[in-house]
Amino acid sequence: MSLVFDLPSRILMGPGPSNVAPSVLQAMALPAIGHLDPEFITLMEHIKTQLRQVMLTENELTIPVSGTGSAGMEAVLCNLIEPGDRCVVCVHGVFGGRMADVCGRYGAEVVKVEAPWGQAIDPADVRAALAGGKTKLVAIVHAETSTGVLQPLEEISTMTHEAGALLVVDCVTSLGGHPVRVDDWGIDACYSGTQKCLSIPPGLAPVSFSPAALNAINTRKTRVANWYLDMTMVQNYWGQDRVYHHTAPVNALFGFHEGLRLVLEEGLEARWARHRANHELLVAGLAELGLELLPAPEHRLWSLNAVKIPDGVDDLAVRKALLTDYNIEIGGGLGGLRGKVWRVGLMGCSSTPNNVNALLSALRALL
Ligand SMILES: *Cc1c(COP(=O)(O)O)cnc(C)c1O
Repeated sequence: MSLVFDLPSRILMGPGPSNVAPSVLQAMALPAIGHLDPEFITLMEHIKTQLRQVMLTENELTIPVSGTGSAGMEAVLCNLIEPGDRCVVCVHGVFGGRMADVCGRYGAEVVKVEAPWGQAIDPADVRAALAGGKTKLVAIVHAETSTGVLQPLEEISTMTHEAGALLVVDCVTSLGGHPVRVDDWGIDACYSGTQKCLSIPPGLAPVSFSPAALNAINTRKTRVANWYLDMTMVQNYWGQDRVYHHTAPVNALFGFHEGLRLVLEEGLEARWARHRANHELLVAGLAELGLELLPAPEHRLWSLNAVKIPDGVDDLAVRKALLTDYNIEIGGGLGGLRGKVWRVGLMGCSSTPNNVNALLSALRALL
């Protein structure tokens, strides 16, 4: 076997991708079969069943979109939005900003509700925005990977439905690491990505649409402005008819199936508890080094820790030394938090006490 270059073996503790279990990689290396082969169709049915279990939903249209998390974002928004629709978009970090951008491109009237980076969105601000006019949807990020903030959703869900709007949730960095209760929380459409807490290589975006969201799609007055992500066609490929739309990424779906199997084998509750315990171990160890997190304790993600960089410490030099001397990848800050925070991911297979201890001892030596 020859590789073009020597691949290092990294401990992936950044904002994604996370480390991948060997059995997922083995599944992806199996010989491809046709995407309309009856065996593959059986696999697609398994995947839909597993994904509903992981997303805690009975939603019929619960499938992986071909593309990364951003394709999931675009798939959800382009199918729900018709030109002129009023969309309330919550922005408390980079990914809320990306949702507002996508909504605008599909012709929505975008009403932003903002919070300072490092804080959660205040439900009272969402209520005020909803009072401003008939609203099609409220879009919000559950786990803001740019700030490390976990956004409570239930109160916002209730007011969204009282206003007759749909709730759209980005659960890219929470699914598989934090509870994401799609049905219990009244989420109408959500999307995630494979390379964060699911620990599957990047390339697929799980999405789920509630009956109300499906109804909005199937009663559109205009055609979906994006051919590739048009659920009115994609649902016929994943449904009983198996109408060819685009070639499913067969080997990526082999890996997805195995990755979901591992999540369910561990058990959702046990997996959430593991993410929480390793986050707490990290926070305690950082405190001993005099390091603090950006978000308040009640709004912290277990999967992504935004650590304030102390004054006088060279952001880039530390991250470079971690990578080259310790084989540990962490992330830098995005946008306004550039140079101000490190983003330490503890996602999926990367969330282990060994990894936490390796990072803490490396930081102890470097700082
Ligand atoms: C990573 C991420 C995305 C985008 O996913 P890609 O796989 O990079 O396209 C969207 N939202 C959040 C919250 C993310 O963390």
